[in-house]
Amino acid sequence: MSIEKIMVVGAGTMGGGIAQTAAACGCTVILADIAELRASAAVELIRKRLERRTAAGKIPPGEKELLLSRISTTTSLEDCGAVELVIEAASELETVKQAIFRQLDALAPAATILASNTSAISITRLAAVTARPDRFIGMHFMNPAHIMELVEVIPGLRTAPEVIATIRALSERMGKKPVVVADAPGFVANRLLMPAINEAIQTLQEGIAARADLDLVMKLGPGQPMGPLELADFIGLDVCLEILETLHRELGEKFRPCPLLRKMVEGGKLGRKNGEGFYDYR
Ligand code: NAD
Repeated sequence: MSIEKIMVVGAGTMGGGIAQTAAACGCTVILADIAELRASAAVELIRKRLERRTAAGKIPPGEKELLLSRISTTTSLEDCGAVELVIEAASELETVKQAIFRQLDALAPAATILASNTSAISITRLAAVTARPDRFIGMHFMNPAHIMELVEVIPGLRTAPEVIATIRALSERMGKKPVVVADAPGFVANRLLMPAINEAIQTLQEGIAARADLDLVMKLGPGQPMGPLELADFIGLDVCLEILETLHRELGEKFRPCPLLRKMVEGGKLGRKNGEGFYDYR
C-alpha cells in the first residue's frame, strides 16, 4: 500500500518533527492537536528549521515553501477522511490515546492504518479499542524526529504482515532505519534508556554529583552526546515520568520513578518544553 496522505495527531515535541519528516518525503500532512496554538506553533518551528537549512545551503531555495505547502493544521479528527495513515503522537497517557483511537476508528476509512508513536504503552492493548487491530501498529520515532534515524516498528498481536511491510517501506522512504521489535513495555529503546535516566536522577537526589558534573561524566566517559539530565529535559520530564510509570506497573520495582522526578513534574518543571527542568532554558 502506498502512503501519500498522513494525519499526525498531537503537535508537541514529537508531532511537529514527524509532520516535517512526512512532508519532506513528499506526503501531504494534516497536523491535528486539541490546542490550535500548539499546531500553529509546530508549523512555525518547522518554518524556522527550514529557513536555517536554506540559509546553510542544505536545501534548495523553494524547497521550504513546497514542504510547508504540504502541511495543514486542524483541531478536528474528522479531517482524517482521506488519509491512508494516522500517526498518533499525543500525550503519553493510555486513556488519552484510547479515546483518540476510538474516534479515529469511527472516522477513518476502513483501509486507513492507525499507528501510535507511544514510548512504552502496549500496541496490542491500544489496537484492541479499535475494530481494526490488523491495521494497527507502533511507529516509534526518536527525538528530534526530523533528525534521528531510528524508527522502532512494533507490530501488535493482530497486525497484518502487509501493514508491517508498508510501515517499514514508509520509514525507509522518510530516510529512516526501521527496526522491528516486539510489543513489550518500553520496546527496546525506552526499556534500556529510562532506567539510566531514572538512576541519574536518583544519583542527583543523593547528592553524589552536581547536575552539570553528572552530565559531564556521562559525556566524557561513556561518550554520550548528551548527559542523562540534559536528555531528560529534552525528552520532557512529564513524558519520562509517564514512561517509567508504565514500565514500573508492568515490569516491576526496578523501574519505580525516582521521587525527585515526580516532584519536578508535580511542581511544573517539565524540561525544555516549558523552559525549566534540571536546567533553566528561559
Ligand atoms: P508533548 O507533551 O510535547 O505533546 C503532546 C501534544 O498532544 C500536545 O500538543 C497536546 O496538546 C496534544 N494532545 C493531547 N491530547 C490530545 C488529543 N486528545 N487530541 C489531539 N492532541 C492532543 O508530548 P511529546 O513529547 O510530543 O510526546 C508525544 C508522544 O510521543 C508520546 O506518546 C510520547 O511518549 C512519544 N514520544 C516522545 C518522545 C520525546 O522525546 N518527547 C520520543 C519518542 C516518542
